[in-house]
Amino acid sequence: MGQSVLVVAEVRNGKPRQVSLEALHIARRARLPDDRISVLLVGHRLEEAAELLLPYVDGAVYRIDHPRLEVYNPETYASAIGSLLRDLQPRLVALGHTAFGRDLAPVLAAKLEAGQISDVVALEGEGAELAYVRPLYAGKLFETRRFSSAGAQVVTVRPSNLPPAEPLPAPGKLETVAYVPPDDLRTVVKDVIRQAAGKVDLTEARIIVSGGRGVRNAEGFKPLQELAAVLGAAVGASRAACDAGYCDYSLQIGQTGKVVTPELYIACGISGAIQHLAGMSRSRVIVAINKDPEAPIFKVADYGIVGDLFEIVPLLTEEFKKL
Ligand code: FAD
Repeated sequence: MGQSVLVVAEVRNGKPRQVSLEALHIARRARLPDDRISVLLVGHRLEEAAELLLPYVDGAVYRIDHPRLEVYNPETYASAIGSLLRDLQPRLVALGHTAFGRDLAPVLAAKLEAGQISDVVALEGEGAELAYVRPLYAGKLFETRRFSSAGAQVVTVRPSNLPPAEPLPAPGKLETVAYVPPDDLRTVVKDVIRQAAGKVDLTEARIIVSGGRGVRNAEGFKPLQELAAVLGAAVGASRAACDAGYCDYSLQIGQTGKVVTPELYIACGISGAIQHLAGMSRSRVIVAINKDPEAPIFKVADYGIVGDLFEIVPLLTEEFKKL
């Protein structure tokens, strides 16, 4: 009997997040012939997500569903997951390299006494030979790592870098795991500020229109928002734009902001500082609009437009409207 390869999935609006299907891709590549792929869901009202994930496992979809788990809290989640981990003793646990996964993965690694490889952007080989590629120095270098020992392994995957897993021919089973909340919690989540409904999630967006200090003020983001609306894109920003109060920090992309990998990244009035590139340089196609022909962003751009963004962005919007 093989061991379990476990994905701790994330749920948003009742459905599994795309990054969890990408973590399932790791599970498929890492599995040994006798291994079973399982998913763990922790939260509240998880029925739909559990059904949707069932075709991707040949082990089980474990569901720990309780009102006290509705909001992520490392303490409640770790206590909820702990006993299941002790029973399952998974060989590998994979999670998204999201705020959730970045916080929870080391806790699980400590519980399993596992090694951890974080922020995986590519894979080489499979099974026992599987190697993980991850960026270093804000994306200037990439290293390839393997786990050296036979012990448990924890891996986090950067969103939108690996393909999502395909369904398996013989689906697994649903299992409900009981949870009794501890009385002595020390961590309390006081408030959760949710992103406005209907907005495209930056980390999963296929197209991003991003603005920097060159947009000049909050009003200057309007042409970018109009272009984004026509393209079905998310709006992002540089830290300088956020620091200047032109937009919310939740839009910040870069070393200290979100890491994104869209199909198309349109950088408007962004110089291309290394800390910004750290968050977007793995975008499939980069278009830069900047009035300075020497701006460093042009070094990473696939297409560069030298000019005033306030002239070029509305022109692009009009042209895309015609398609
Ligand atoms: P600027 O560098 O000021 O560039 C503005 C650009 O707009 C210029 O190239 C200019 O030519 C162009 N422009 C001006 N007007 C127009 C116009 N009308 N039309 C077209 N182009 C125009 N930055 C991030 O973005 N993300 C991070 O996560 C991040 N983390 C950091 C962490 C640390 C520890 C440090 C030290 C810095 C970090 N920074 C980060 C800041 C980073 O170093 C840069 O200061 C920042 O990215 C610059 O933002 P910008 O390109 O919008 O502004």
